[in-house]
Amino acid sequence: MNTSLPFEKLTVLENFGHSLRAQSYVFKPLGAEEIAGVFKLAKQSGLKVTVRGAGRSYNDASLNGGGIVMDLSQMNKVLAWNPETGIVTAEPGLTLEGLWRTVLPDGWWPPVVSGTMTTTLGGCLSMNIHGKNNFKMGPIGEHVLEFSALLPTGAQITCSPHKNGDLFRSMISGMGMLGVFTSITLQMKHVVSGLLEVRGFSVPNLRTHLQALLEKAPDNDYTVGWLDGFPGGKSLGRGQIHVARYLHEGEDPNPAKSMLVKNQVLPPTIFGVPKGILHYFMIPFRIAPLWGMVNTAKYVAGMRNEHFRQPHAAFHFLLDYVPNWELAYGSGGLIQYQSFLPKETAYDAWTEVLTLSHKRGLPSYLGVTKRHRPDDFLLSHAVDGFSLALDFRVTNGSRARMSQMLQDFDKIVTEAGGRFYFAKNSETSAETARRFLGSETVERFRALKRRTDPNNLLESDLYRRVFG
Ligand SMILES: Cc1cc2nc3c(=O)[nH]c(=O)nc-3n(C[C@H](O)[C@H](O)[C@H](O)COP(=O)(O)OP(=O)(O)OC[C@H]3O[C@@H](n4cnc5c(N)ncnc54)[C@H](O)[C@@H]3O)c2cc1C
Repeated sequence: MNTSLPFEKLTVLENFGHSLRAQSYVFKPLGAEEIAGVFKLAKQSGLKVTVRGAGRSYNDASLNGGGIVMDLSQMNKVLAWNPETGIVTAEPGLTLEGLWRTVLPDGWWPPVVSGTMTTTLGGCLSMNIHGKNNFKMGPIGEHVLEFSALLPTGAQITCSPHKNGDLFRSMISGMGMLGVFTSITLQMKHVVSGLLEVRGFSVPNLRTHLQALLEKAPDNDYTVGWLDGFPGGKSLGRGQIHVARYLHEGEDPNPAKSMLVKNQVLPPTIFGVPKGILHYFMIPFRIAPLWGMVNTAKYVAGMRNEHFRQPHAAFHFLLDYVPNWELAYGSGGLIQYQSFLPKETAYDAWTEVLTLSHKRGLPSYLGVTKRHRPDDFLLSHAVDGFSLALDFRVTNGSRARMSQMLQDFDKIVTEAGGRFYFAKNSETSAETARRFLGSETVERFRALKRRTDPNNLLESDLYRRVFG
């Protein structure tokens, strides 16, 4: 550790899944000047800097062992909001929760959100997050009108699709490695109700699962699938699909009421149990056979078709219903493995992936599927196809086997023309990254980095792993 930096800043940080840990000097700047000060300190001390939003990446994206972490969660102000145009400008530490609470009462909703509302705008742009509407609305970057950023060189820049376009398309998706977003301007989506019309139905195997995602997407605003990672054979890939659409004018008898924040928020108790302690009740189910039984019950319950109206927040942020649910995976934490595959190869590749997880005795506890379309951001993870996110429980006994299995998955996915998402996987190697991004993209990214960060001040554990 660097003795010239204040000892009291030394903090152990974790990834969202609690499967990784790293000690860093943590600074919490409140503006561009203080960010510049941290860069100066880094240069003097010879340490690398990683920016951190809410730390909700599943992997090592905002970890920086032995270096400096710049936590921007306190730069979280809404700087301007125009309810006529739906254009909002905010500091990068504003969370999606802060964003939707600001805009929904005026009839707007963020065009793209992640499965948790705790993420920050800076983190969302750096990873170029996708929502359950990726097939229709693209990633969040397509709704950014402009951003300001501070580069490690000290330069303050403004980027839009028409101004500094190369940096616009590479800082968005660039894993926080080219500069620091200091303000972000986004276009919101106009809505006429605080509710969505939702339908749910079950799918008996992987083929019908993927077919349903493909066929239902064009007629809906959102499509998402739950995949039961336990059964094999004829039931491999079975699950449940939920589709949703915005209500049209006149369909909601009381839109002013449904758009109130208090009618969106998740209830403080579920079945009378305070949300804050619910994850303790999940602990017994971390044993694989018991979790398999829970999944079967969920699948059977989903066999009756559902049709209901649901607040936007409840539909999107289901995982926030049980705060700290990830702790139920135990002290080894969890790893999420998300792969993106073209629609032509997805079935065969995921059949191989799921079968391998059964053979190795390491089934996935939670699987989520989505429909995607490509985008033109430099480090894009999207394809014209689908994604499958698989959550795995990590234990000391399984860590090495898990790591090997995920690397074996990487081979299957890259051979099938697939891609990966830098906010999720923890095993992607530099070789795999080059394989799916292509050498030309890797070299373009490196050239941009030499321009914005000639002294290589910005580095994270993720960056060293995939671009090392
Ligand atoms: C329960 C859950 C559900 C999720 N669902 C989805 C989903 O549906 N779709 C999806 O796409 N993702 C999803 N994610 C992943 C998540 O959206 C991303 O990992 C996101 O980047 C996390 O934002 P954060 O603010 O926590 O950023 P962090 O994890 O802290 O950082 C992420 C990256 O952003 C960089 N960064 C942060 N702030 C700045 C800044 N101001 N300037 C430059 N770089 C910066 C960091 O250096 C890092 O590389 C989910 C995560 C969780 C935990």
